[in-house]
Amino acid sequence: MSVTPVIEADVLRRQDPELAEILLGELARQSTTLQLIAAENFTSPAVLAALGSPLANKYAEGYPGARHHGGCEIVDVAERVAVERAKALFGAEHANVQAHSGSSAVLAAYAALLRPGDTVLALGLPYGGHLTHGSPANFSGRWFDFVGYGVDAETGIVDYAQVRSLARLHRPKAIVCGSIAYPRHIDYAFFREVADEVGAYLIADAAHPIGLVAGGAAPNPVPYADVVCATTHKVLRGPRGGMLLCGSELAERVDRAVFPFTQGGAQMHTIAAKAVAFGEATTPAFTAYAHQVVANARVLAAGLAAEGLVVTTGGTDTHLITADPLPLGVDGRAARGQLAAAGLVLDCCALPHGDSRGLRLGTAAVTTQGMGEGEMAGIAALVAGVLRGRVDARSARDEVRDLVGGFPPYPG
Ligand SMILES: *Cc1c(COP(=O)(O)O)cnc(C)c1O
Repeated sequence: MSVTPVIEADVLRRQDPELAEILLGELARQSTTLQLIAAENFTSPAVLAALGSPLANKYAEGYPGARHHGGCEIVDVAERVAVERAKALFGAEHANVQAHSGSSAVLAAYAALLRPGDTVLALGLPYGGHLTHGSPANFSGRWFDFVGYGVDAETGIVDYAQVRSLARLHRPKAIVCGSIAYPRHIDYAFFREVADEVGAYLIADAAHPIGLVAGGAAPNPVPYADVVCATTHKVLRGPRGGMLLCGSELAERVDRAVFPFTQGGAQMHTIAAKAVAFGEATTPAFTAYAHQVVANARVLAAGLAAEGLVVTTGGTDTHLITADPLPLGVDGRAARGQLAAAGLVLDCCALPHGDSRGLRLGTAAVTTQGMGEGEMAGIAALVAGVLRGRVDARSARDEVRDLVGGFPPYPG
C-alpha cells in the first residue's frame, strides 16, 4: 500500500479527474493563502496516511474486545493504542476516542449525565458559547433548559461572580465551561468549586485549548471536570474528530452514551489517525510547537492592538485572538470579506459588548507552517493595511503569496 502523504493524486487523476482537480485546487488554496481560522490546522502526512488507509473499510460497532462485527482484531489494537495514548497524554483515567466530532462529544457528555429538561449553565452564545451550549437551533437548546453566563463587557473576562450567583439561583444539573472564542485560560478550579457547591456536574468543552494542554501550554481541565469534551483537529493537529476524557467511575456511562446511544460504528481510520496525532503530541517538538503557537498569538495580538484594533481582554493566553476592527472604520463582517479578498482567511465572531461583529484569528496553522514572531508582526501590519485601505487587495495577495511561499504546509 502506498502511503503517499498528501493526496494520491495520480490514482485519482486517472480515475476521476474532476475530483482530483477539486482536491488539488483545495491544496493550492491552503498553500497560497494565509490560514488564520482559529479552529484549523495542517495535519501531518502521517495523520493523512492513516485517514487514507484501508481502516476506512472496516465496520467496528462496539468497543475493543466487544464488537458487533467480525474481523476487528487489528482495529481493536488501533483503538486500544489511541485510548492509552490519550489517557497518558492528558492524565485521564478513561478516554473515549470514538466521538465523530466535537459536537458529538458534547452530545454524548449530555447523554451520559443529563435527562431532557435538565437545567444547564453555560457561557451564553453571544459571548462565545458553542451551538451545543444551548442554541435554539441545536439539540442542546431544544432538549435542555440552558441558562447563560457572560463575560465582563469592559474586560472581556468570564464574569465569575455571575457564574456563582446563577449557579446558586438555578441549581443546574451541569455547568459547562469552554468557548469558541475565549482567548484566556479558564479557571477550572473555580468552576469545580461552584459545581461542588450546587451539586452540579462540571463539563469542560476544551475543543480549542486541548492541543495547548497536550503541549503543556495551557491548564489541564482533566483534574477538575467530571467530563472533558474535545476535538482532535484544532490545535491538537489530528484528524477531524472528537473525544471524551473522564474518571473511571463515569467511564461506562460515557462509553454507552457514545455507542450505542448517539452513534453507530466507530470510524477506525479516524481513530488510527487520532492515535498518530496523540503520538506526535507527546514529542518535545510538539511541546515547542504549542508554546510557539501562544508566543505567536501574543505578538499578533499586540501588533493588531498597536494598529488600532480593539483586542478583547487586551491580549491572549492561547492560540486565539478576537478583535474589533471598528476603529479602523470597518466592522468584523466587512473586514472578513476585505481580508479574504486579500488572501487572509479568518472568521467573524461576537464581541463582549455585542454591538457589532469582531474578527477571530488563530495561530495554530501558521505556526505548523513554521512561522514565528517576525511573520506575526508582518501579518498584523498587513491586516491593518488592508482594512485602512493602505494596501490594495492585489498587492496584499502578492504579499501573502510571497509569505506563505516560504512556509509550505506540505513541502514537495
Ligand atoms: C469546535 C468546537 C466544537 C465543535 O466541534 P465540531 O467538531 O465542529 O463539531 C464544540 N465546542 C467548542 C467549544 C468548539 O470550539
